[in-house]
Amino acid sequence: MVQQTIQIFGRIKPTGKPSAVFSVDNEDPTGASLDFLLPRDLSDGFVNNKRESYKFRFKKVFDQHAKQEDIFENIARPVADSVLAGFNGAIFAYGQTGSGKTFTITGGAERYADRGIIPRTLSYLFERFSQDSSTVYTMHISYLEIYNELGYDLLDPRHEASRLEDLPKVLIMEDADQNIHLRNLSLQQAANEEEALNLLFLGDTNRMIAETPLNQASTRSHCIFTVHLCRREPGSATLQRSKLHLVDLAGSDRVSKTGLNGVLLTEAKYINLSLHFLEQVILALSERSRSHIPYRNSMLTSVLRDSLGGNCMTTMIATLAVDKRNLDESISTCRFAQRVALIKNEAILNEELDPVLLIAHLKEEILTLKKQLATMMGEQKDEQLTADEMLKLEELIEAFLNDPDPDGTLSLGPAMRKVQHSFSYFKRKILEKQTERHQCSQQPPAATRREDVYFPHMSPVDVNSLKEMLQQRDNEISILVKMLKKEKKRADDAVVQLSRITDCQKLSSQSLPNYSTVPGFGDGMADTLSLNRGGQASSESLTGEENMELGEDVSTLSKLTGQVASMCPLSQQLKSTPPQSRDGNVKGHQEDQRVKVYTFQESHEGNMNQLSLNHGGQVLLYMKKGSQLSAGKQEAFEIFIKDHEEQQIIEDHKQLIKKRSAEARTLSEQLNQVRNTIAELRKQLQMRRRQSAAQSVEVNHPPGEKFDPVEEDLCEQIRREKIVYKSAIGRLKALSTEIEHLQLLLERVKVKIQKDFQKWWTQEASSLQGWEPGATAGFHTRPSSSGTPGLCKEFPDTSLDRRSSSAQHARSAVSSYMCSCVSISKST
Ligand code: ADP
Ligand code: MG
Repeated sequence: MVQQTIQIFGRIKPTGKPSAVFSVDNEDPTGASLDFLLPRDLSDGFVNNKRESYKFRFKKVFDQHAKQEDIFENIARPVADSVLAGFNGAIFAYGQTGSGKTFTITGGAERYADRGIIPRTLSYLFERFSQDSSTVYTMHISYLEIYNELGYDLLDPRHEASRLEDLPKVLIMEDADQNIHLRNLSLQQAANEEEALNLLFLGDTNRMIAETPLNQASTRSHCIFTVHLCRREPGSATLQRSKLHLVDLAGSDRVSKTGLNGVLLTEAKYINLSLHFLEQVILALSERSRSHIPYRNSMLTSVLRDSLGGNCMTTMIATLAVDKRNLDESISTCRFAQRVALIKNEAILNEELDPVLLIAHLKEEILTLKKQLATMMGEQKDEQLTADEMLKLEELIEAFLNDPDPDGTLSLGPAMRKVQHSFSYFKRKILEKQTERHQCSQQPPAATRREDVYFPHMSPVDVNSLKEMLQQRDNEISILVKMLKKEKKRADDAVVQLSRITDCQKLSSQSLPNYSTVPGFGDGMADTLSLNRGGQASSESLTGEENMELGEDVSTLSKLTGQVASMCPLSQQLKSTPPQSRDGNVKGHQEDQRVKVYTFQESHEGNMNQLSLNHGGQVLLYMKKGSQLSAGKQEAFEIFIKDHEEQQIIEDHKQLIKKRSAEARTLSEQLNQVRNTIAELRKQLQMRRRQSAAQSVEVNHPPGEKFDPVEEDLCEQIRREKIVYKSAIGRLKALSTEIEHLQLLLERVKVKIQKDFQKWWTQEASSLQGWEPGATAGFHTRPSSSGTPGLCKEFPDTSLDRRSSSAQHARSAVSSYMCSCVSISKST
């Protein structure tokens, strides 16, 4: 429990005419003070008593130059921190109309830097959530307006369409424990900063447009923006719930000074009545002897009950307009603040238990206890273990053996059968290990094995892996040669087709064959083809499509030729060149992986003495690299996907994602425009209302009694824009979901192709070499990755990723819209 008096801050609104009648002292370590000096000739009836100077104590007073950021850092951040820690918090602004309450709590519309406490606090909270990944936070928001003692939900979707008077009223209910509940007040979840800011934007817009000329509710109502936080450690049954009220009170102007009548007087009475009740509550709280606190007298005090003298860390900001004509109001605001400063609150950590999680935990505990009891009582199940049970048990044992934690335990439950099976499993394992060791010792003595002579630091297992890898490289070469033949045949066919076309047009074409102008023909390949076909074709006679097709075939052929050409010398050397003649080559190509294989192969063949110690390290290095995909296999993969039946699906998805992403981009631009329009209309509306108020003062006519068509038109425009805004947001969300779904499908196709390739590759390898796929599993499909998503890591993702890049564009379009939302709402 934290005991704390309500913290009082003062904020002075910038004024055009600097007035020398006040001074601020923030230097005193015990707190700040604000002094007003009223020379006798100035006490002309505005101030009733004849005192000349007034001194008020505050925790800190922010003078006219204080920035919104300073206000947030000094006032709101500590409250937000305690709300994050599980305590309730409240900040309320009190002061006369026009003294800067709304500016302080919500902020000004002009500049981004003018953002008030609400948007800054929302940003801060979400930033803190993201830093604390070990805790799950959920945020809900409610926005309540109290006008003439009645509550309205500013986030109610009907708010915009109806007059304030026709809306369902928010009702106060009290439970048996005297907890307050508000019926008809919606709680909206905000999953991120944008959503929370969006709710603030919608609530503020609703607040403005529900105002009619007859009720200028914005300055005559109280607004309570509440953030409801729920915090939970994953797996824990304990929840922490805390609330943060950010309150913009109605103007504290006194009725006698405002000279109002009719409806406005009623309103002023209500406002003053509710502020009067607030004052009564505060007075009662500051007198220790009082046992009854009249919270129930008004809606405002009922809602803020916890924040006043209860379980809450509360802060008040007294906003002050210090020009001479407002001095008496400022002094009365300060007096109110002094009384508030006496109130002591007791904030407690709001922890509760989640019954569902608690039940789950208790059930688990009961089960464990039952098992323990059964073991203690010597109860045993006699029936044999089923095959399935044995399999599961063995998995458990393996997990236990592989667990690096020395304190890890193996929980078997009370079944003796399981204990016995576990012991026989362990025995089997130990015997296997012993046999292995025995076989190793049966091999020729270490000194007589070549590998051990030349790589004394390498284990037999390492040497075997290298041998295997060498075998696999040979296979790769064979597969590539096979593919090369196939591609060459395709190219030949294409050229035959080409010559047929040109034969038909030969008479009209006299130009010499020139393959190099066909797109996709590399220089070398063009020469090869010219030779092959005896220079019969002319690229000029080809249609665009034929050009493309032919080009693709030949370029694939060219790639393969390059690939195989670069590998062939190796394969030939491996098989035919006598070891003694190759020593020189090795040193010159130490950086080339393939040469490193050669190095090993050569050593393996018998001439290992010069290489063994120097190159042992490199061989090991290569062995590690070798587990990745080789260039040859990558090349084969590129060609494989080109012919794959799912290729068309990928293309279709890509196109659709592109289309949706473009749509999302247009939509987000449109949304930004609508937001700007609404912000602009809101500004105009505010201006218009101020003008009407000024005019009514001039003609001594109560404001708002005349219907203003311009104002009504502005409200109507805002309403229309809001409908567009809402439907666009809905569409954007749907688009985002669709894009994500398409992306998922694309990923699935990608995995399928990779698996198909793997299957095909293994088949090819075994058919070429008569090689058992099982023997190659160590390289081609790493056991850990086979059939699992981890498999994908082994494959060149480039070509497939290229296809899904448009999906990434789409996602980034949606997220960039969401970011722009933040900046727009930040600027409004
Ligand atoms: P209230 O809500 O107390 O009636 P407002 O917050 O609407 O008063 O402020 C009235 C006007 O004064 C607004 O135009 C607001 O932008 C401006 N204002 C108030 N405080 C400041 C400040 N600290 N800096 C700049 N402008 C301010
Ligand atoms: Mg205001």
